[in-house]
Amino acid sequence: MRTGFARVASLLLALVLLVGCQPASFSGRQAFKHVKALDALGPRYVGSEANQAAADYIAKTLEEYGWEVTRQNLAYGGERLQNVIATRGTGPTVLLGTHYDTRPIAENDRAEPTSPVPGANDGGSGVGVLLELARTLDPAITAERSVMLAFFDGEDRGGIDGWEWAVGARHLARQLANDANSRPEWVLIVDMVGDANQELFWEWSSSVSLNETVWRVAHDLGYEQQFVARHKHYLIADHTPFAEMGMQAAILIDFDYPYWHTRQDTLDKISVDSLQRVGDVITAFVQQQ
Ligand SMILES: [Zn+2]
Repeated sequence: MRTGFARVASLLLALVLLVGCQPASFSGRQAFKHVKALDALGPRYVGSEANQAAADYIAKTLEEYGWEVTRQNLAYGGERLQNVIATRGTGPTVLLGTHYDTRPIAENDRAEPTSPVPGANDGGSGVGVLLELARTLDPAITAERSVMLAFFDGEDRGGIDGWEWAVGARHLARQLANDANSRPEWVLIVDMVGDANQELFWEWSSSVSLNETVWRVAHDLGYEQQFVARHKHYLIADHTPFAEMGMQAAILIDFDYPYWHTRQDTLDKISVDSLQRVGDVITAFVQQQ
């Protein structure tokens, strides 16, 4: 009995040590928890209290996962905006980005076109994926390059009161374009990826080679049904300023989302499996670069 117990105990200890040494793997469920936490704050449009609370939640989570976090304050159109930027590692910079602000008006909603968009998918799903990546990215990756995770404010106020789109992203792009030490080798933006009926096409203004590489990785993982390797939409979003300033940039987005800019962009539309697939693809892509 005693010998048997000791053997079981040492096996359990070995298992715990083994698990402890493995890098954590991306969990769609964990990513969903972040989307849920953001959603619970309410609409997070520029200048709102929920927007500030979202920035605080993102910064706190990143710090807990051991990233160096800076907050980038900027003023635009009479509002104060804040990008949350996390970095880890040394070497050439690569950038993953998303926006956390949500749209102040649901102009595609027939019933309530002047109410704010809840933004579970648009402004929520990308944050969930990037925060879970912050937990799970293999430290071996950041031993060779500097990974920057950017959470932009002011993407989704575009076209209202003369505002541009992607105000926060443009601010960072300007800064990085002129910085020889941290100009990113590539920029991958993630937004609106949580739809259960997931279909991601190449975006027209995105880098062709970046698109091809990311979709190849997705196909290797068996996700060819969701990652359709052909062009469909042309979008002005957070990848745009980086591309305009000559950086290799692409956006990973499922733009065929019937609840886009409506009051129905809610948590029940978000699928754990969809978040999982995008997390798996980005994990494998970053590893292979
Ligand atoms: Zn939007």
